Amino acid sequence: MIISSGLGMNNNKKLFLALFLQFFVLASWGQSSGALWSNQAWKDSVEMWLSQMTIEEKVGQMTQINLDVVCEGEIYKLVEPHHIDPNKLRRAIVDWHVGSVLNCGGHAYTRDHWHQLIGAIQQEVQSQSRLKIPVLYGIDAIHGANYVLGSTLFPQQLGQAASFDPSLVRYAAGITAYETRAAGMPWNFSPVLDVGRNPLWSRFFETYGEDPYVCSTMGRAAVEGYQGVFGKVGIDDEHVGACMKHFLGYSGARSGKDRTPSILSDIELREIYRPSFQAAIDAGAVSVMINSGEINGIPVHANPKILVELLRNEMGFKGMAVTDWEDIIKLEKNHRVAHDLKEAVFLAVVGGIDMCMVPNDFEFTRLLIELVKEGKISQDRINESVRRILYMKYQLGVMSHPMGKLDYPNFGCEVFQKTALNTALSSITLLKNEKKLFPLQSGKKIYVGGPSASSMVMLNGAWSRTWQGVDPQWDDNSKNTIFEAIQKWNGATTFTDEAWTSGFNEKALNKKAIKKSDVIVLCLGEMPSTEKPGDIDDLTLSKDQIAFARLVKEMHKKGVPMVLVLAENRPRLIAEIEPYFDAIWMMYQPGDYGADALVQLMSGEVTPSGRLPFTYPKFPNTLFTYDHKYTETLDTQFGNSAYQPQWPFGHGLSYSSFEYSGLNVEKKDKGDGSWEVEVTMKIKNNSDRTAQETTLLYVQDVVASVTPHVKRLKRFQKLSYKPNEEKEIKFYLDKKDFEFIGSDARPVFEPGEFRIMVGGQELNVLLP
Ligand code: BGC
Repeated sequence: MIISSGLGMNNNKKLFLALFLQFFVLASWGQSSGALWSNQAWKDSVEMWLSQMTIEEKVGQMTQINLDVVCEGEIYKLVEPHHIDPNKLRRAIVDWHVGSVLNCGGHAYTRDHWHQLIGAIQQEVQSQSRLKIPVLYGIDAIHGANYVLGSTLFPQQLGQAASFDPSLVRYAAGITAYETRAAGMPWNFSPVLDVGRNPLWSRFFETYGEDPYVCSTMGRAAVEGYQGVFGKVGIDDEHVGACMKHFLGYSGARSGKDRTPSILSDIELREIYRPSFQAAIDAGAVSVMINSGEINGIPVHANPKILVELLRNEMGFKGMAVTDWEDIIKLEKNHRVAHDLKEAVFLAVVGGIDMCMVPNDFEFTRLLIELVKEGKISQDRINESVRRILYMKYQLGVMSHPMGKLDYPNFGCEVFQKTALNTALSSITLLKNEKKLFPLQSGKKIYVGGPSASSMVMLNGAWSRTWQGVDPQWDDNSKNTIFEAIQKWNGATTFTDEAWTSGFNEKALNKKAIKKSDVIVLCLGEMPSTEKPGDIDDLTLSKDQIAFARLVKEMHKKGVPMVLVLAENRPRLIAEIEPYFDAIWMMYQPGDYGADALVQLMSGEVTPSGRLPFTYPKFPNTLFTYDHKYTETLDTQFGNSAYQPQWPFGHGLSYSSFEYSGLNVEKKDKGDGSWEVEVTMKIKNNSDRTAQETTLLYVQDVVASVTPHVKRLKRFQKLSYKPNEEKEIKFYLDKKDFEFIGSDARPVFEPGEFRIMVGGQELNVLLP
């Protein structure tokens, strides 16, 4: 619904229709990815290749190197502008038979530049290699084709989840796929399907939040968007192969620090971390990347219980498994489960990996060839992996046209940009709005200050033109910062200052403007970061920003409202300063159009509808998720008030008010011996403005043999309501929705009483 209202048919009717049709077909497509896995012609061709390949050529296919390895200069210090070194390329392709290359040499390129680089690699394969099997190029296109200059940048995954609108996630992925292919790349290391259970984690913003059902729904939508409608012809050249990552339990690290140990029970693994990957497998995801960390003392890269028994035998994954960056090296150097690199290679290959993201030398290749020649790893085991790799190359069309099409006329078009704007509009969340400060009329004196007021990098986050996303030289200056967007809307009565150009500087504060303003907007948050560089020791918002908020609070005119705008990688604690503010906006990392979206929401042009896809914590040592256990609510007075988040999961204010009534829950027999539960309710928009409302349906298992969660999300739906419109909504739940993982680590349904909770109403139902 937001697509049709927001995209506007006038902009580019034809393109809109084409996009709409494409996604409409997808919506009704369901789980018909079977053809992708059963193409006999591809299977026959793969067997034909296998029969002709030497062991060196096979192991070469299992090798993935970094682009730096074939470029002029040193690794991580390439000669600008980055270009291929023909001697290094020959070595990789002809001497080592490399099957895959990844990454950019440190920053984004134009499409032309990408075509030159990848074109040269494919050309070398065609002209010099014996078998001429094209290279599979992989890239991290995390929130748009972020390494392709001029591409459309969307909100990061966490922000996309806050939209609670899977169709927007599907659109974003579809556009990302198109713009990635436009640069000659057919394979995307996305989506992240790790569940964000620990807000300290440096990659929290890359997740779809803390709830397994939201992660599953959004993950499935992303895979559908990336891979498109595929049938016998495979994934077409406007789509890319998805790579679900990082299997499994990566986000569950106890310390919250990147790549540190997870201690996870079988119940937790299957109940919390598995469903999102299962949903992506069912949607046809062609590849998976492995968790760099360890679970219960075993590095996942060397754990056949996870990589074979669980992933393949139990979950039915047929695609290709790639390691993460240097993870075989890490088995020796970091995890210390191997005496040397050769043993590490052995452990990982026997453990179940298919391709190694080595990525900076050919040691994996050399050692694996040795292991096969010594009879320590069988040819059959190698064939199994190479079979999957070559089959994937067929699925993506790489074997016949490795560079895709020549022409991608819609790259960066207005419809794509509007979709990114709509995603931000649907995602940005109004957390607090005292005395109905918003919507706000323009024309007031507004002071806009703080580190994210004039920063594009803080709106985009990591994986934006560079890995960490911190260098403003890659900003697209045609896009608005928060200050610019507010100024364009509010006019010359908008003020800012220089206080934050290089860390907080009290002297540079525009005190005059602060004292004279009618509204103060402080834009706080966090510089982008990801992976190791994003580890923090304290979840609290940085001390200088807390001091800044205090200072402004002290100097501003009494009675003048203060507004907080947050752009951050994860929920930084703000309990001390929260009471200073009359209104608070959570932007997540909304991308290039985030500031424009914020202003449309502030002004009331669009009614806010984003909801938190995680629990916003209040205290550093009380990091509970919404689906905690009952014992976690017990307080020191033996009451039940220990669960006190700053804001709960699903929180998000609107300018409309919605009334829920008439909840009805009925068990219905389906006639084939099975049953379903029909949940009906009425929802009314009690306001004179059009608004969207997300309905969240939770189930509570009243008593169970494994301690039940206080509630678990089972369905959600976001709909648009006209002024004063009332709708009747129905949800259907089946037996699976009432199951949990039992003490034997298998799903179990225990008959009994269940509570259905929705929109502040609840009803119990007895199920047989
Ligand atoms: C990250 C992955 C990423 C890979 C390739 C790793 O360090 O963990 O998420 O896909 O690098 O860039």
